[in-house]
Amino acid sequence: MTQPGQTEDAALVLFSGGQDSTTCLAWALARYSRVETVGFRYGQRHAVEMDCREPVREALASGRLGMDHIVDLTETIAGLGHTAMTADIAIETDRDGLPTTFVPGRNLLFLTCAAAIAYRRGLRRIVAGVCETDFSGYPDCRDDTVKAMQLALNLGMQRRFILETPLMWLDKAATWALASDLGGQKFVDVIREQTHTCYLGNRSLCHTWGFGCGTCPACQLRAGGWERWTEAAGCADPERVLC
Ligand code: ZN
Repeated sequence: MTQPGQTEDAALVLFSGGQDSTTCLAWALARYSRVETVGFRYGQRHAVEMDCREPVREALASGRLGMDHIVDLTETIAGLGHTAMTADIAIETDRDGLPTTFVPGRNLLFLTCAAAIAYRRGLRRIVAGVCETDFSGYPDCRDDTVKAMQLALNLGMQRRFILETPLMWLDKAATWALASDLGGQKFVDVIREQTHTCYLGNRSLCHTWGFGCGTCPACQLRAGGWERWTEAAGCADPERVLC
């Protein structure tokens, strides 16, 4: 049940400027009458993703797209310790079996900050592009984590937020297919050209699936999904040169 102060069909999308959150933004714009976005600075090595946000928002602009919020967690995250996502540390698996790019608590902080904004803005739905199907093994991307956070946030803020994760059970090929379903080739090209995924922040190497180093785990997931999707049917012109 929607509470006073919350609008049922209004959403806040956690929007990083990457492929997944861009797909989530289009997904939310197709469903809800008011959609706002939030992005986080946290000292990420690929801070270039933040520069991708506004061009993507412009490409998706409609009467439904509202305010953009930026939250700077750089000092907070850096103060908690370094990871391969925020410092020049090798990207590998650590002794706990987790990638060194895992930033402990990051997504929990993101969801908490997002809920605080949604609380003030009267937005009932919080949309996150997390996924546990074809992912880097981050425990805070898991469905159970998000469900637990929904409960904690609703109790802690006395609201009835709905945390939505449209990509949770999709692999990367299916995420490309969803983009195509949502906006056709034009939107697929926005994702290829405008969004950023590479952990190393590389935007000088261009591939059919977009920019990136091509070898980091994020690039490999994106490229692998592109390959499987284009082979299976999807893209009208998979080899088109983008740059
Ligand atoms: Zn990369």
